[in-house]
Amino acid sequence: MFKKILIANRGEIACRVAATARRMAIKTVAVYSDADAGAKHVAACDESVHIGGSAPRDSYLRWQRIIEAAHATGAEAIHPGYGFLSENEEFAQACADAGLVFIGPPASAIKAMGLKAESKQLMEKAGVPLVPGYHGSDQDPALLQREADRIGYPVLIKASAGGGGKGMRAVDKPADFLAALDSCKREAINSFGSDAVLVEKYAQRPRHVEIQVFGDMHGNYVYLFERDCSVQRRHQKVLEEAPAPGMTETLRQQMGEAAVAAARAVNYVGAGTVEFIVEQLDGRTAGSGGSVGASAAHEVASVGARFFFMEMNTRLQVEHPVTEAITGLDLVEWQLRVAAGQPLPLKQAQLRIHGHAIEARICAENPDKQFLPATGTLQVYGQPLASHFERSDHGVRIDDGVREGDTISPHYDSMVAKLIVHGDTREQALARLDQALSEFHIVGLQTNVQFLRHVVQSASFAKADLDTALIAREEAVLFKQEKLGLQVAAAAAVALTLSDQKNGECADPFSRTDGWRSHGPSQRRFEFEFHAERSPAQLVCLHDGSMRLDIAGASLPLAFEANGSALSLTVGGEHQSLRAYRHGEDVHVFSPRGATQITAIDLLAHAGVAQHEAGRLTAPMPGKIVSFQVKAGDKVSRGQALAVMEAMKMEHTIAAPADGVIDELLYAPGDQVPEGSELLTMVV
Ligand code: ADP
Ligand code: ADP
Ligand code: MG
Repeated sequence: MFKKILIANRGEIACRVAATARRMAIKTVAVYSDADAGAKHVAACDESVHIGGSAPRDSYLRWQRIIEAAHATGAEAIHPGYGFLSENEEFAQACADAGLVFIGPPASAIKAMGLKAESKQLMEKAGVPLVPGYHGSDQDPALLQREADRIGYPVLIKASAGGGGKGMRAVDKPADFLAALDSCKREAINSFGSDAVLVEKYAQRPRHVEIQVFGDMHGNYVYLFERDCSVQRRHQKVLEEAPAPGMTETLRQQMGEAAVAAARAVNYVGAGTVEFIVEQLDGRTAGSGGSVGASAAHEVASVGARFFFMEMNTRLQVEHPVTEAITGLDLVEWQLRVAAGQPLPLKQAQLRIHGHAIEARICAENPDKQFLPATGTLQVYGQPLASHFERSDHGVRIDDGVREGDTISPHYDSMVAKLIVHGDTREQALARLDQALSEFHIVGLQTNVQFLRHVVQSASFAKADLDTALIAREEAVLFKQEKLGLQVAAAAAVALTLSDQKNGECADPFSRTDGWRSHGPSQRRFEFEFHAERSPAQLVCLHDGSMRLDIAGASLPLAFEANGSALSLTVGGEHQSLRAYRHGEDVHVFSPRGATQITAIDLLAHAGVAQHEAGRLTAPMPGKIVSFQVKAGDKVSRGQALAVMEAMKMEHTIAAPADGVIDELLYAPGDQVPEGSELLTMVV
């Protein structure tokens, strides 16, 4: 076994790999960028090497520098994690050439599976079922259109070199094909440096079911069962679970064997995932035109489910912990053993599924704004259950690479943590997930925690009515605009008052008296804003020391006890325990029912701001200009898309804040822009 390995990654996966290495008494070397000096993954390793600037191309993608760091520290092997260099065949080869072990498949296998079109040709030869489509090298637009017509609409155009849900366009009818092809090619060349595409049948309401495979250097292969990753937004995974609900033993075995055949066809070594599109597992035919053409399909008589190869990811996946939970194995340990030349620790017949596991990706983003990624500092980062042991008792695991006080910067992806729960049954896992999500308290940046709770509580997810359209189908409940609750308003009023007292910022009667007693009735007014709706409120302290909250025409008795952020609150006779944190003008209230953010508008501080900001359109974060939708002189209306920027692996649309006329574009497509820079000017 290795004595020392270098981890060529950051964040949660770097911490994850370091934990297994420590358990196996293997020393670890971290690499880090400027932005990550002092990051959790650096502290998690035994040694660390600074490799450059914050932008990935200046650090985590500089593979020559990483190989030098391995040599300088005496590491024998490099674990690439996922993202960054993990699927870079040149890097895998460079490691081998430098006498270092790349903890992953051989460069030849990465190359063979690297392009979607080429890998599909290979899989066809290996007898793995494919989605009906065209994956040839002739890229003549007229030919592609003819192929699309032949396949039948809707079709999906995919960048062959694509990944991360990018470079895909669904086309519903022949007339739209060429325009979609054009835009797909443009995105593909910008993002992946190649504009080669493939065209395939766009399955309606399919499920994404993937198989974890493992190979060793001695020709042994196993599959570690499936994961259902159907709950997606923008073709990217949100929740993942294992096993897949409704899976039959027959289908599991057929898909497992197809995945092993795929791995064997490229002499795969190490951990890999074969992704499949699966028709509804319970045999229902999905929606109109939902059935994928039968040409290359595998028929499974018992359930009527058919599966089709989508792609192989030649690395560990973000969602590998759910497989670990149901198999009781450590996949990073298996990776290390295999890379060191050992045979696979177990044979197929020795592998079993125990219970059910679900992973939720907790991301810094705003679900209500098309999942726009968010940045900021983790002012509060409160996790469910205090210790590792407490968590494992409750079937809860958290993989993260951050600590309270850390910043989610625009340089990397928006994932803050992964929450993994395990239970004897899916129902138990679901209940644990909901409970654990309610105890995840993040203040300082927008997250999807509350959205995830909505998904978990949705009828579709609860019933395991899973398919890739789940989020769209449940839109009405997932993005529901909640009404401001009285408890939340009361908690906010109390938290604001207490925090002003503590900071001595406020000269109101509360802070001048001993706690809440005063010689005459005193009051404090608030202007709350919640989901763009304003509600004035008033907290009144009476002669006898009792309190009252006036809000929305009602006047309610209020009493509380505070201990740090914990509030025990009784309003209008209803009692609740919650936590409230103030962050500037915002108050974050966490209760078992949910997390709410409410703003207390400081009317004075905001006077004049709106006027000053009007007509200034600035970059919300550092990034690249992808395109402008307007030119100087254009008349635009409020909400109209003006420009598209790319940052944190996502595209952001900058919309007009008001009706007006575009004055000047200050950058060009392709330009890199710093945060806050003015992108264009308009006259309103
Ligand atoms: P998949 O589920 O197909 O593995 P993911 O949605 O997990 O893809 O991730 C999309 C892409 O972003 C992948 O290339 C993945 O390796 C990369 N990625 C995900 N998380 C991180 C991270 N924390 N750091 C760097 N890259 C990441
Ligand atoms: P990426 O490399 O971005 O992960 P994939 O080919 O794995 O690209 O596709 C990403 C997601 O897009 C899948 O998980 C699935 O939800 C959806 N998808 C891909 N191909 C099809 C298809 N032919 N029909 C329907 N949905 C598809
Ligand atoms: Mg994929």
